[in-house]
Formats: sequence, structure tokens, C-alpha cells
Amino acid sequence: MAIHEKSLIEAERLKTADHLVIDGVDVSGHWNTMITPRTLCDYDEHFEKTIQKYGGGENVHRCWQCGSCTNSCTMYAQNVNFNPRYWIYLTRLGLKDELLKDKDIIWQCVSCNRCTHICPRDVRPEGVMKALAHWMEEEGITEKSPATVFDEEFWDQIAERGRIEDSEVLKNFFQKTGQELTQDWLVEMIKRMLKHLPFKHLFRSGKNAVMHPRTQSWGRTGEVLKQYVQEQKEAIHG
Ligand code: SF4
Ligand code: SF4
Repeated sequence: MAIHEKSLIEAERLKTADHLVIDGVDVSGHWNTMITPRTLCDYDEHFEKTIQKYGGGENVHRCWQCGSCTNSCTMYAQNVNFNPRYWIYLTRLGLKDELLKDKDIIWQCVSCNRCTHICPRDVRPEGVMKALAHWMEEEGITEKSPATVFDEEFWDQIAERGRIEDSEVLKNFFQKTGQELTQDWLVEMIKRMLKHLPFKHLFRSGKNAVMHPRTQSWGRTGEVLKQYVQEQKEAIHG
């Protein structure tokens, strides 16, 4: 009997004898294909709780596997291997190794939130995708995404000074992500700013970019915020 969904079974677990006769009946080839049993013992029973600690992953335990998220998913329409329902299932079972087989596509979620709106259990699959992507970055399984690099630069300036300098955020972001500083759109934007913005505004921006001013009385507030963020990280990683 043909095995449907063969693609879901690891090739090494499919056993087929090219020539086999049983009780005079020729069952050579796919007629005798067997699947070797698999006993799972490589699960992490705490993994679901780990993902729940990341922003967006809080409701992953609510999933009842209806599949509506995957059916409505923008990325699934492009690539049938992009399967939020399956990844949520693996997260709940703690099957990290299975999950990591798709580490190169999980981050491709485009945050359209179609899954979020259709989910009958308020799981917020988009949030779970982000939580998984952040977990993989923090574990060093995948490289930091440009969005994460940008967020970190933004946060560092806020924590230190209580404000950001747009030009400095952009400059550092480009440098950290190996991008040219002289991007066409940026050059064009600067030209327009020079043409249209009042001189005093340009002067203040230039001065701030050099002097790095802080928000008044920011010191203590910044320290409290940094401490809070550190506590949140420790809560996730133990
Ligand atoms: S739509 Fe919600 S409940 Fe259904 S499989 Fe997706 S996450 Fe689970
Ligand atoms: S938010 Fe991500 S997971 Fe949800 S439907 Fe859009 S691409 Fe798919």
C-alpha cells in the first residue's frame, strides 16, 4: 500500500527491499516499504514555558491545532514549508530539533497578522513566530536580523540618554549591518532637508549629533530601565 505524505518521514526511516517474495507473493519495491518506529526522548519539557516568556509567545499553550493560521498565512501561500501551526505544535511538545530544521524560514514571517485575526483561540501566532525568531537569535542559532540590530541600537541610545539622534541611529545601524552610508535615498533625503529645513533646526541636529545630549534628569530613570530589561532577560534564561 502506498505511503501518503512520504515527504514528512525522514528518508532513513523508510525501509524498502528491492526484491522480496512472501508466501509466493512478490512484494518487491514499494509494496514492502516499512517505516521504522521512532521513540522520541529528545524533547525539552520546559521549551513551551521558555517561548511564553518572550513577547508574543504568551498564549502558545492555547493552540488546539485547527490549522486556520497556516491556511490564512501569507508566507504559506508562497512556500508550503512555512507552517505556523506545525511550529506551534513542536513548541508545545518541546521538539526543538524538529523545529530547528526550519530555522532558515521561521524568521520570514512578514507580520501581516492574518493568522492573529483568524485564530479562534487568541494564540497570536505572529507573536509566536517572533518569539521563536528571538529565541533562535539569542541562542546563537541564527544571526541577528537587521530588525534586531536596529532595535538594539535604538534601545542603547534610549537607555543611555533618554532620547535618540536619528542620524546616529541610522549611521550605527548601517555600520553594524555592513551597509553603505551613502545610500541614494538617504543622500536625497539629506539634500531635501538642507533645502527645506530652517537653519536653526539643522544647526541643532548637527550639534546634537556631536554633543549627544541627555534628557534632563535621565540618569536614574535610565538605570531603572536597564535593570528592568536585565531582569527580564534573566527571567527568560534563568
Ligand atoms: S489558528 Fe490558532 S488555534 Fe488554530 S492552529 Fe493556528 S494557533 Fe492554533
Ligand atoms: S503574521 Fe506571519 S505567520 Fe501570521 S499570517 Fe502573516 S506571515 Fe503568516
